[in-house]
Amino acid sequence: MGVPDTDVLVVGGGPAGLAAAIAARRKGFSVAVVDAAVPPIDKACGEGLMPDALNALAELGIQIPAGIGIPFRGIRFVGEDVSVEADFPSGYALALRRPILHQILIDAAEKEGVDLLWGTSGGQLSDISARWIIGADGHASQVRKWAGLDRWRRVRERLGFRVHYRMAPWTDHVEVHWHPQFQMYVAAVAADEVMVAVLCHDARARVEQALEFFPELQARVSEAPRTTMERGGVSATRRLWVVTQGTVALVGDASGSVDAITGEGLGLAFRQGLALADALVAGNLDLYEVAHRKLARRPTFMADLLLLLDGRPELQYRALHYLARHPQLFRFLLALHVGQLRSPIRYFDHGATAAIGAGRR
Ligand SMILES: Cc1cc2nc3c(=O)[nH]c(=O)nc-3n(C[C@H](O)[C@H](O)[C@H](O)COP(=O)(O)OP(=O)(O)OC[C@H]3O[C@@H](n4cnc5c(N)ncnc54)[C@H](O)[C@@H]3O)c2cc1C
Repeated sequence: MGVPDTDVLVVGGGPAGLAAAIAARRKGFSVAVVDAAVPPIDKACGEGLMPDALNALAELGIQIPAGIGIPFRGIRFVGEDVSVEADFPSGYALALRRPILHQILIDAAEKEGVDLLWGTSGGQLSDISARWIIGADGHASQVRKWAGLDRWRRVRERLGFRVHYRMAPWTDHVEVHWHPQFQMYVAAVAADEVMVAVLCHDARARVEQALEFFPELQARVSEAPRTTMERGGVSATRRLWVVTQGTVALVGDASGSVDAITGEGLGLAFRQGLALADALVAGNLDLYEVAHRKLARRPTFMADLLLLLDGRPELQYRALHYLARHPQLFRFLLALHVGQLRSPIRYFDHGATAAIGAGRR
């Protein structure tokens, strides 16, 4: 199939590519998306949309219809003998099956008038007639290689595996279960379906083996039928030196990523799409370069902070117990994580401030 002449050609029709396509189309550009795969496209993903991701979707003109997915109010960390939870300061997050999110994005792109060419590879990019090319072809991006952008500033890779179970949700928080060497996280994605994922360093690890280290969680899901086959993917915190070259710009995982434990990959991709559309209007990709760097800062910082606890059992034990004793600190960190930290001081009453001071000593 031929690739059309267009203002903007997006290579890769995953969440990042579709968001960028919608944002550009809403600015008046003609946009075509090519993707080598054909929907429905599933992927290893924690399937959580944080409140800031939902806000970015709203800016793209996309509302997830009521009744789709399961809203969650916050995050719960669970350690061996301890747990702590916090709610988002405002709004909620949403977990929904990845192919459903993808279809919502496809429908929105079609409604905006984006040309969608499935089963079509980016192929020989020299044949393409487009004013701008957006590489949204995921973490192993060909566009990135072709544009000579494959120069990493930092790379920290892990792996993620996920499965789903047919069962009623037991919580309105996403749970992160901490083991010294890996984390499991759990999100209800439908009224009768729960996703369980493991994030680890071992390519041979699988969800059901990891569950053996969490007897309570294992007991909850052991009787439930599995509804999906296990899928794995790379969970990485990666940063490129630059994400643009000439008329080419990268978005989503093609442009770098944050570890899946942050739950921020999709929100970041959506915000990149919005920022890129503004840069296209200005005809200046340097603006996107700056915006991309700025957007990555908070999730990357939070990924680094969270991963301080990975592989450090003593620190992890102390940190989880400390947070359990000072839940206001956990609320503060969650607010910071989702970009809702408007008034830091209100998280710290006198007692908490004194306790943090004592912790420092
Ligand atoms: C285990 C795990 C859990 C995660 N949990 C969360 C979470 O809870 N919340 C969150 O926000 N993020 C999460 N993430 C991150 C999130 O899944 C990614 O950031 C997101 O999928 C990136 O989207 P993308 O469109 O950039 O890439 P992709 O989803 O990989 O899409 C890339 C697209 O490009 C296409 N493509 C590839 N090569 C070509 C080519 N040569 N020509 C044409 N098309 C091509 C592919 O077919 C694909 O459709 C998780 C990731 C992992 C691994």
